[in-house]
Amino acid sequence: MKAVSAVLPFRVNRYVMENLIDWDAVPDDPIFQLVFPQRGMLAPEAFERMAGLVARGAPREALRAAASEIRRGLNPNPAGQKDLNVPRDRHARPIPGLQHKYRLTVVFFPSAGQSCHTYCTYCFRWSQFVGEPDLRFAAREAGALVRYLRQHPEVTSVLVTGGDPMVMKSPALRRYLEPLLVRELDHVRSIRIGTKATSYWPYRFTTAADADELLRVFERVRESGRTLSLMAHYSHPRELEPPEARAALRRVRDAGVEVYCQAPLIRHVNDDAEIWRELLDRQVQLGAHPYYMFVERDTGARGYFEVPLARALEIFTGACNRVTGLARTIRGPSMSCTAGKLVVDGVVEIAGDRLFALKFLQGRDPEWAGRVFFARYDERATWIDELEPAFGAERFFFDEALKTMRRTGLARPWLPGQRPPGSGSRGSDGGIRLDERAGR
Ligand SMILES: *Cc1c(COP(=O)(O)O)cnc(C)c1O
Ligand code: SF4
Repeated sequence: MKAVSAVLPFRVNRYVMENLIDWDAVPDDPIFQLVFPQRGMLAPEAFERMAGLVARGAPREALRAAASEIRRGLNPNPAGQKDLNVPRDRHARPIPGLQHKYRLTVVFFPSAGQSCHTYCTYCFRWSQFVGEPDLRFAAREAGALVRYLRQHPEVTSVLVTGGDPMVMKSPALRRYLEPLLVRELDHVRSIRIGTKATSYWPYRFTTAADADELLRVFERVRESGRTLSLMAHYSHPRELEPPEARAALRRVRDAGVEVYCQAPLIRHVNDDAEIWRELLDRQVQLGAHPYYMFVERDTGARGYFEVPLARALEIFTGACNRVTGLARTIRGPSMSCTAGKLVVDGVVEIAGDRLFALKFLQGRDPEWAGRVFFARYDERATWIDELEPAFGAERFFFDEALKTMRRTGLARPWLPGQRPPGSGSRGSDGGIRLDERAGR
């Protein structure tokens, strides 16, 4: 464990240890797997190397250097997070702590919110926590965000994330949020806060010393006429069992805050339709809205956690078939990749070919949203880059536009002068256009 946690972040708090982990079921217990580093999370060579250093009592410096090298091999910033998503100011300088990938939503990373009460072993933001400054991005204050939003009236939503912004004390959160509530930012209609504190530290919303003040901050946002939502991360139905966790949800909802639930599908943690069925049912019972099931991203200890897309679809469908429409507000299994949020919508047979039907839930080019396209069925594929276009096409319809965006760094096609030729519905990609007819 020491060898693995030298590379990947590890932290667990008392609440999780005492209320969520079933110690009689360790090591297979899903919450134990969610939180405690396991040997299989590193590649065998990497593990041997770290374990050797630990066993020999190697100096800290040597451990740190080896860990850092291994991390860099783990794709620390997937899906163009550092190059394509980070917006620039008028002088073309990158604005730290912001991502703007989809037209309507800016993602904001306050620097005080770049850790979590407990770390998930599968976290795709893991590089934010390991203390390597050039692997992270964060903003110390809201000034740059406010300036950016003033210049971008197309943005209607700000998503505050981390880490977990709910590690911040209430006054810190207030300092980040209040500047957004001004009249000249009236185009920002909703503020969302991504968090796992409802699961890892529910006292944050109930009995913590600054919980009441937190609720007043929430109220302030609501009084400004904006919608406030918690995007709550629940990986397993057990996280909704403790009375503390239920009380936290109740209190947040009583303050007029909507709760949307999302989580990745993770082997060893929740790769089972019945687990998701129960998770969805509990969420709806507690008044929260199921939102996204994600596919584990192509980063970190992915090999240990990944579930093939075909199996993910089975689990998703299996769970949806056992819940009412109230819980079918969940979408997935969804890949957050460089092109956008891609959902695996089904397996179809067309002219004797077995295919995945894929659909854009969100596109880097807004014109891609809602478009359906096909890839050859592959039982083992776990990510879009392992899929081949259907019908013998060379590439997917968006590949060319994406390549141009990568080359030019102009990745916001809704802005004047940033639409690469060949992108969107007007372009021609030489591929099969069935996707057009099916998707629109
Ligand atoms: C998912 C996501 C959003 C929000 O998308 P919604 O479909 O509005 O929930 C915004 N930015 C990024 C980078 C995302 O991954
Ligand atoms: S709570 Fe979220 S950000 Fe924190 S470790 Fe888990 S997945 Fe990562």
